Amino acid sequence: MQKRIRIGFDLDGVVIGKPFFVPQVLLEKLVRKRIDHELLYRYPKSEMEIMIRIASHHPLMRPPIRENIRLIEELYKSNKYELFVVSSRYQFLNKRTREWFRFYKTRKFFKKIFINLHNEQPHLYKEKMITRLKLDVFIDDDKPLLDYLKSKVKNVDLVYVSDQHQHFSNR
Ligand SMILES: [Mg+2]
Repeated sequence: MQKRIRIGFDLDGVVIGKPFFVPQVLLEKLVRKRIDHELLYRYPKSEMEIMIRIASHHPLMRPPIRENIRLIEELYKSNKYELFVVSSRYQFLNKRTREWFRFYKTRKFFKKIFINLHNEQPHLYKEKMITRLKLDVFIDDDKPLLDYLKSKVKNVDLVYVSDQHQHFSNR
């Protein structure tokens, strides 16, 4: 049997849409800070902030990105691919993430779903997982993160999904 191509998907912004009422700029501020061109992502500082983040990840507030789900379903049905989710969502979103896949009945498309259970820096976590899973392709909507990965991981096609169009493109 031919070797199946292993594709990794980021979750938020690739499979799952962003909450429509939170401005993009604010979202960026909440998750990322940049110091001297080095990537650094924020971890929530208080219990309250964690509670707000959990609440804002309720499945009803996070609609699936339909075009991308359709494509994922086609890839799944073709049997030529192994699909993974590699998300840097922190441990406190573990339950929410499971709820999301149950709610939108999308779990079966993926061989395995990985989230950042040890709350590592997202770019380091993804670098580690892409190597560990021997992914052929990785798809993400975070440009600075992809730029970081470009210099770190070899033999993988890094694909950028733009926020505006919300479907796959070759950067
Ligand atoms: Mg993302």
